[in-house]
Amino acid sequence: MRPRILPALISLCIAACAGSATAKSTSSIHASSKEKQALKWIEKNTENQIQFLEKLVNINSGTTNVDGVREVGAIYAKAFEEIGMQTEWIELPAEMHRAGHLVARHHAKGKSASARKRVLLIGHLDTVFEKSSPFQRFERDGHIAHGPGTVDMKGGNGVILYALRALHHAGLLDDIEVTVYLTGDEEAPGLPLAVTRESLIAAIKSCDVALGFESLVDHLDTATIARRGFLGWTLNVKGTQGHSSLIFSDAMGYGAIYESARILDGFRKALAGQDNLTLSPGRVVGGTEVTDDNENGHGEAFGKANIIAKEVQTAGDLRALTPEQVAASQQTMQDIVAKNLPGTSATLVFAEGYPPMAPTRGNQRLLELLNQINHDLGRKDIEAVAPMRRGAADISFAAPFVPSMGGLGLLGDGDHSPAELVDLRSVPVATSRAALLIYRLSQMPR
Ligand SMILES: [Zn+2]
Repeated sequence: MRPRILPALISLCIAACAGSATAKSTSSIHASSKEKQALKWIEKNTENQIQFLEKLVNINSGTTNVDGVREVGAIYAKAFEEIGMQTEWIELPAEMHRAGHLVARHHAKGKSASARKRVLLIGHLDTVFEKSSPFQRFERDGHIAHGPGTVDMKGGNGVILYALRALHHAGLLDDIEVTVYLTGDEEAPGLPLAVTRESLIAAIKSCDVALGFESLVDHLDTATIARRGFLGWTLNVKGTQGHSSLIFSDAMGYGAIYESARILDGFRKALAGQDNLTLSPGRVVGGTEVTDDNENGHGEAFGKANIIAKEVQTAGDLRALTPEQVAASQQTMQDIVAKNLPGTSATLVFAEGYPPMAPTRGNQRLLELLNQINHDLGRKDIEAVAPMRRGAADISFAAPFVPSMGGLGLLGDGDHSPAELVDLRSVPVATSRAALLIYRLSQMPR
């Protein structure tokens, strides 16, 4: 789930990404001999990794296609089991119409295993393209492949799998305590989130660091260590119904529409212009009789010009970068709501949402490690993606608990549209970097 990236990305990338990890001779790479074995395996298996991606893209796994999501999950599960990982399918209540989640675990061997970091790798099995979409097939044209979920994010799941396969091949997986968590409903999460993300949060709490493999942004050498969270909110304002000629009087007051206008403009005056904060009312329905269906985004109102409005419902969202910014904004909004005009009352309710991923010191350290790895692979500095560029994702749930970094998947464009594509040259680059990152993190003390 993220806003569209620059449309010119691919042409930019063609110029900027000419050197890939595969183009470097392994002698110019700074890595241990076992790490180099893993890197060689990745280079040799790039075509195989692309074919595996093609197979999965050609199976529809739109979020509500429960059978399709499960089928995709079963293919990944088998692949993880083949390298000695244990898998588990997390079921969700049937009435949610969501497939559930795949978890694959590997326990480190050896005496000091429990002293080293436990790594969590996060992806998702579903796509936004349901069975009814005309966009269903993987189509390759040179180094570009179009298809649903190529970059969002079957490509990223493949980075996780092939990085672990490479480490297994090099004999390094034995040393790694790792959990892979692939959710089945990232694009349209089953609600309440307290239920559908319960086991993910438990997995996060049992690890020391979390990595997300949704797409790279702009070019091959980027990562995400900060992204905003979001919260839905609804504002319900009540006024005193009466003849319009009596508005502003002590008896009738100002009506629900003036009061809503006061509150919404108060939000704008108090909060617009803050760094990394947005607050947007998306739907307002007001009049004498109001019905509002927030789930389906549909509202209806009846009202007349000569009647003081009795009710206004507004639905909006709030996006912010840190938990402190969220809490302060909520307080500011409630303070504004409480100062009612005469003859009116108002309540503001916040729905559950995705927590912000703040740019913490722990996240910065992850970026520094990734940067070192990129240099060891003969590449340039990693650029941190601006927080405003990304929407929330499942990695956001990890951010309040453990150091987290996302955007480690493949490079592409057009996600959530029939123009979705992946630049296949990013396959060996992202997978090589992931293999070294997962291994080196897993060898650090907790
Ligand atoms: Zn998405």
